Amino acid sequence: MQVRITVSFPYEAPVSQSLFDRASAVTPGGVNSPVRAFRAVGGTPRFMVSGTGPYLTDADGREYVDLVCSWGPMILGHSHPEVIAAVQEAVAHGTSFGTPGAGEVELAEEIVARIEPVEQVRLVSSGTEATMSAIRLARGFTGRPKVIKFAGCYHGHVDALLAAAGSGVATLGLPDTPGVTGAQAGDTIVLPYNDLETVRAAFAAHPGEIACVITEAAAGNMGVVPPLPGFNQGLKDLCAGNGALYISDEVMTGFRVSKAGWYGIDGVRPDLMTFGKVMGGGFPAAAFGGRADVMAHLAPAGPVYQAGTLSGNPVATAAGVAQLRLLDDAAYEKVDAVSAEVRGLVTAALAKEGVAHRLQVAGNMFTVFFTDAEVTDYDAAKAQESFRFTAFFHSMLAQGVYLPPSAFESWFVSTAHDTAAVERIAAALPAAARAAAAATA
Ligand code: PLP
Repeated sequence: MQVRITVSFPYEAPVSQSLFDRASAVTPGGVNSPVRAFRAVGGTPRFMVSGTGPYLTDADGREYVDLVCSWGPMILGHSHPEVIAAVQEAVAHGTSFGTPGAGEVELAEEIVARIEPVEQVRLVSSGTEATMSAIRLARGFTGRPKVIKFAGCYHGHVDALLAAAGSGVATLGLPDTPGVTGAQAGDTIVLPYNDLETVRAAFAAHPGEIACVITEAAAGNMGVVPPLPGFNQGLKDLCAGNGALYISDEVMTGFRVSKAGWYGIDGVRPDLMTFGKVMGGGFPAAAFGGRADVMAHLAPAGPVYQAGTLSGNPVATAAGVAQLRLLDDAAYEKVDAVSAEVRGLVTAALAKEGVAHRLQVAGNMFTVFFTDAEVTDYDAAKAQESFRFTAFFHSMLAQGVYLPPSAFESWFVSTAHDTAAVERIAAALPAAARAAAAATA
């Protein structure tokens, strides 16, 4: 989707631009994950060369306060010394064995110890693999074909789950993705988020056919849209009453919004859960887990096949274990406090310029929607004035603050966002708010 840019670019990034030109020659769209390409906001994607604490430095030598944190994983900031030391120690012993290893036991034990509904867990390498495998397991366990998902929720690029997905699919305004066949998507039922009645109706319309309901524990991929009170519990009850499994996708919220993720906040007990991002400490590690009787259906214990050459990789698990062990109560208090401070500054700056906006929050994750209406589902998220975000984004970028390059994403902070970093954000906000106020569609 080409977006009309309503701001000028008073800054240049020649080295990033030349890297982007080279990348575009050898990689579709110049990136390895679509939202990185800045298509929704225009301009030159920044190629980053290093990260320290709350800061990223791009190939042109410009430093930014990072409010993306690698889309969630870097909850301790970049290059945390203890995580780096754990990685160096692991690398010195070899990078992959293709056998079981102690690191994967430690990481699995950390997860099981923190999240009570997870009795057993299987490690994989990406959130996409985690949700794909959880769905397969749910189908294998129940012997049923159909899956309910919610519009605007993103569960990775699993064929069956791309229908009406959030994240990059929302950012680029894509309809259903070519390449996904009717057969692959035909058993997916897409319903509006936060609307239990439609879920009830779907169970009534397809008796004995629905294997599972998968939902983001708190939606972050259409921007942050928390579940309304009772929504997750209602899903759980409808699943339990109809012989289906309730799958809570905590790839984004897991180990980020509390020690036990969103489960630690709402206490609704899923049958299966999926994790990624924070648990890998910046490396490709993810997981799915839950009820032991369900997990027992997974090969080699049971018949549902699932595998991975690099699953439980020793370097990734060392990073994950080191990061999780540093995430104590004090760390979450710090991230929550930084998040609240930044939210307060953003709201004050936008309010001062009279910009209609709404800050939506799930734990320490948040999104600024450029609308004054409450956003409870994907349609409401899409109704915002995202052209204002474009102007806001570029003003912040020009002043050295790196926001998600999309109005449909969560912002992320870390324990490393100290007073100096927050002051830089505060200093950039007045001009960005003025740019948002002046923007036209
Ligand atoms: N599920 C959720 C809730 C996510 O936010 C994401 C990624 O953003 C995924 C699944 C897919 O994870 P990955 O990008 O590691 O495949």
